[in-house]
Amino acid sequence: MSDKPKVKVATVWLGGCAGCHMSFLDLDERLIDLFKLIELTSSPISDLKEIPVVDVGIVEGAVCNEENEHVLRTLRKQCKVLVSLGDCAMTGNVPALRNQKTLDETLVRGYIETESTHAGEVPNENVPVLCKKVRPIQEFVKVDASIPGCPPDADAIWYALTELLAGRKPVWNPTNVRYD
Ligand code: SF4
Repeated sequence: MSDKPKVKVATVWLGGCAGCHMSFLDLDERLIDLFKLIELTSSPISDLKEIPVVDVGIVEGAVCNEENEHVLRTLRKQCKVLVSLGDCAMTGNVPALRNQKTLDETLVRGYIETESTHAGEVPNENVPVLCKKVRPIQEFVKVDASIPGCPPDADAIWYALTELLAGRKPVWNPTNVRYD
């Protein structure tokens, strides 16, 4: 086994559907090889409240609310290389569909016109404060590399991570970007 210290990685999930993280798990047995090289210090399923200092931060999802923005800015401070995972992080993609309506129209649609647990009222506490518009992460912080796709498939994630671990930036073309 290599004496090189493992690359510390943290992943976060902002506004999105978690499909990109599920694709990450589709690496299956390649995860075993990956975990010889990296240490996943925190992820959406860990109990850590604070994001630790890491080498690589991976972000899935767009910025939809103030909490998303705080998590993103914290991760940017805590990591050397920031990677966007999937099209929601890169472009806003699916969560940004709500940008076609105003925030008030969105809240009415979500809580009053649609059956919800809030009995026809827009809640004003215990819910994240929504941003007026959903925005991709590079509008808030510097992004060093991206993994496109919705979701990126496991091969794309594997390619990107192995390139980054080798000190190279992944290069994308129509043969290695997939939209399943
Ligand atoms: Fe889900 Fe696609 Fe967004 Fe990933 S890019 S979080 S799979 S909608």
